[in-house]
Amino acid sequence: MDRLKIATAWLGGCSGCHMSFLDLDEFLIDLAARVDVVYSPIMDVKEYPDGVDLCLVEGAVCNEDNLELLQKIRARTRILVSFGDCAITCNVTSLRNLLGEKNTDQILQRAYVEAADANPMRPALAGIVPVLLPKVRPVHEMVPVEYFLPGCPPPAPRIKALLTNILDHAPALTGAQLKFG
Ligand code: SF4
Repeated sequence: MDRLKIATAWLGGCSGCHMSFLDLDEFLIDLAARVDVVYSPIMDVKEYPDGVDLCLVEGAVCNEDNLELLQKIRARTRILVSFGDCAITCNVTSLRNLLGEKNTDQILQRAYVEAADANPMRPALAGIVPVLLPKVRPVHEMVPVEYFLPGCPPPAPRIKALLTNILDHAPALTGAQLKFG
């Protein structure tokens, strides 16, 4: 079988889903024998490459940087997995949605000034903090998704079940043809 090109990405999340991925333990060795990891926050690759077979996307879409990366991932990826509850439902990341859609100024004021232990100050230079979207959104509301992998975080056996299924049926199959479980 051809080696699959796989990636993982981190949007608005806590990295716990990636920690669960690392909990795959010895299965990571099996995985390394069958795939090439071409992009991930746990490796030093700056640009998301073309021709990726599978990407696990952790986290909700919170800011313009998240959205730009997600759209690039979708354009360059065959099978996109919404990875974890923040990606699927927004989860804790969306607590600020309770404040309404005009909340971004309030959020930044709370984070950088009111809750600061020292040097309360909003970042002054453009580009230091990504521009927040009016509302935190789940991944599938912004781009099409092939699979949902729920959990906070998804347990390692569940991640393994999905990856095993894809490895056993890809690369000829499309996402829609894959069977999970
Ligand atoms: S789903 Fe849970 S573990 Fe994953 S990024 Fe969100 S809060 Fe963290």
